[in-house]
Amino acid sequence: MSWAGLPGYDCWLCGAPSCSTAARLMEAGELSPESCPFSKPVLRKPWITEPTPIRIIHPCPSEPQTTEISLSLVQKGAKYRPIDMDLSIELLNFFAVRARSMARGQIISADIGRSSVQIYASGRIMLRNEISSQSALDDLKKCLFYIMPAVVCQNDAYLFLEEIIYKRKVCQEHLMEIAGIKLDLNDIRSAIEGVEPENYEILLKEGINRIKKLDSTGLILISISIELRRVFLLNPPKEIVDVLRRSFSGYLEREVKSDHRSSTRVMKLSEAVARILEGDIPATDKNRTDPE
Ligand code: SF4
Repeated sequence: MSWAGLPGYDCWLCGAPSCSTAARLMEAGELSPESCPFSKPVLRKPWITEPTPIRIIHPCPSEPQTTEISLSLVQKGAKYRPIDMDLSIELLNFFAVRARSMARGQIISADIGRSSVQIYASGRIMLRNEISSQSALDDLKKCLFYIMPAVVCQNDAYLFLEEIIYKRKVCQEHLMEIAGIKLDLNDIRSAIEGVEPENYEILLKEGINRIKKLDSTGLILISISIELRRVFLLNPPKEIVDVLRRSFSGYLEREVKSDHRSSTRVMKLSEAVARILEGDIPATDKNRTDPE
């Protein structure tokens, strides 16, 4: 993806697996801006809030049902921008949440359930709900569920796709707990096994099926599929596809099978959203009357 003045080729030439991760590493001083042969990035100090626990506020005494929630996703000692805003907005839109990017991508404004939510690139989330505290908390949980795959690991600046490829350990357990997400990474890895990266629709399909069965691993498969889709939309050269394929098979330590290719039906994202809304899925905004 294009980020901080980088071209968005996700080509690995600088040593980072994507431009967004390269930008995070450059901002943290762990990768030279000259490492990218295609562009000279404009870098600023990353804007990261201090870690804070969830605070529930009742701002108006005459309307005690109105609730505001403030939360920082940031962990103590965070050094990388804590959230990938581009992936967040794609995930929110995927789950039929109306969300828009503001302030040059630094803020996402979204209607989630019955709450209005602002998600800041610094890692802060502000939520306002005029129904009740419980309704606010329910919507916060939904919000965290949707954007959890876009939370940047503070061990290495990677997102889930990169963690899976490079066999890293994820650091987002505390957020998963708040969002009610239970993940079995081995299970996610077995879902990827045998799938060629350019057949990312298989992962999308499998992710949707798992979400319908209330299995949160589906969320990660959907996010990996969205990331892969973005890579392949750029029509990457064969070398990059080979690197990606080797990364998948290298992780799995087995030859990549190709027998899924012929049976794959290309599923458009809008089609996937329609299917997800048909099913018995928690944390979707079924009551919305004004879908995007
Ligand atoms: S070299 Fe790195 S920053 Fe430059 S386009 Fe490739 S992945 Fe992106």
